[in-house]
Amino acid sequence: MKLELLPGPKLMLIVLDGLGDRKIKELGWKTPLEAAFKPNLDYFAKFGLNGRHYPLEPGLPVGSGVAHTMLFGYSLKDYPERGPIEALGIGAELEHGDLAFRINFATFAEDGKVVLDRRAGRADFGLDEIARDLSSVLSENPFGLEIEVYHSTQHRGVLVVREWKRAFGVRDTDPQVEGREVVLPEGNREIDELVRWIHRKSFEFLENHEINKRRKELGLKPANGILLRGAGMLKDVEKFTEKYGLRGAGIASDALYLGIARYFGLDPVLKLEDEEKITKALELLKNNDFVFVHFKKTDNASHDGDFLRKKEEIEKVDRLLEPLKESSNLAVLITGDHATPCSLRTHSGDAVPFLIWGENVPRDNVEKFGEGFAVFGEAGTVEAKYLMQILLNASGRLSEFGK
Ligand code: ZN
Ligand code: ZN
Repeated sequence: MKLELLPGPKLMLIVLDGLGDRKIKELGWKTPLEAAFKPNLDYFAKFGLNGRHYPLEPGLPVGSGVAHTMLFGYSLKDYPERGPIEALGIGAELEHGDLAFRINFATFAEDGKVVLDRRAGRADFGLDEIARDLSSVLSENPFGLEIEVYHSTQHRGVLVVREWKRAFGVRDTDPQVEGREVVLPEGNREIDELVRWIHRKSFEFLENHEINKRRKELGLKPANGILLRGAGMLKDVEKFTEKYGLRGAGIASDALYLGIARYFGLDPVLKLEDEEKITKALELLKNNDFVFVHFKKTDNASHDGDFLRKKEEIEKVDRLLEPLKESSNLAVLITGDHATPCSLRTHSGDAVPFLIWGENVPRDNVEKFGEGFAVFGEAGTVEAKYLMQILLNASGRLSEFGK
C-alpha cells in the first residue's frame, strides 16, 4: 500500500534503545522510566498521544536490527542479517552481490580450533594493522575472490567477499561458548570450502603475526583468528524516501544503527555523540522531512542489569530533549526499539511505551511517560510496523486511502 502524504509538520523518530522494562522492587515497584525524573518526556506525554508497541509480535523478543526494521515500517523479509548492516555501519562500501560477515577477532588455542576468548580480551591493540594484512593474505585465495577485512571497535570487525553473487546459506562459526571448538561447515559447497579456508588461513597467518607477539608482551590476549557471524547480502529494499515520499536523515553512535539507517536509504547518516544529536537533528530538519535519532546507553545499562544507571541515562536524554519544546512545525515519536528488562539482562517480548507529541498531534488523558501510563494511551497497543503510519496520521500528514 502506497501512502499519500499531505503537507504538514516535519517528523522526528527518537529511539532510546531497550527502553521498555519491568517494575523493580528497589525503585518502589516502578520501572526505570517511571522512576526517572524526566520533565520533558512527561510534558510530551501529557500534551501528546500515548500507546505501546510490540516490536514484531506480542511476547516475542527480537534483536535491535529486526526491531528497527519494523520501526521504519518495513517487513521481516527486508532485513538482510547483521553482516551487511555492520559493513554499512562502519562505512565500508557494499555493492549488491557482496557477501558480508560481521567478525570477532578472537583468541584460539594452539590447535587453531578451540576458542579460548571469543573477543580476544576486547583489546583493540594492533587490530587495524592485522585487518589490513589479513585482507591481502585472504585475497590470495584459490577461489579467485577479492576479500576485505575491516576492524571497527574493540574486538569487532567486518569481512566482505566481493561479488559473491550466489547462495550462501551458512551458519556462524562462533561456538558462543568459550572452551568449545569453532563451528566449521562440513559440506562441499563452495561457501563451505571458502569458510573453512578463511578460518584456517587466518589462524596460520595471525598465529605468527608480529602484532600478536607484541600483544603477548603487553599482557594482552593474541587475536590469532576470526569468528564469522551474520552472513548476508544487500536486498532490494524500497528506499525510505521512495516508500514515504519523505527526505530522511539519521543520527546514531553505533555501527548497527548507522548501518540500518543507511541500509534503508536515510541520507545523510551521521555518527555523533549523544550531546550533539538533538541540535544536529533540528538543523537537519531544515533540509529534510524526517530525522531518526538513536540513543544506545539505556540498552547497555539494561544488559548490565544496572537499573539505576538506566534511570540516569533516561534522565540524561530527557535533558537533551529540552530544545524540542521550543520547536514549531514538528511532530516527534519517542519510544524504545524493544524492552530490555534489567532483571533479565536481555531483550524481552514485552510491550514498549511510545509517545507522539507536536504539531496537530491530539492529546489523550495520559499524564506521564511510562510503561504503566502508556497502557491507558489512546493510540492503544499496536505492532511496531504501524508506528510510522500512526505518526503520519497523528500529525495530519496522511491522505485518505482509496479516495
Ligand atoms: Zn535495541
Ligand atoms: Zn540490547
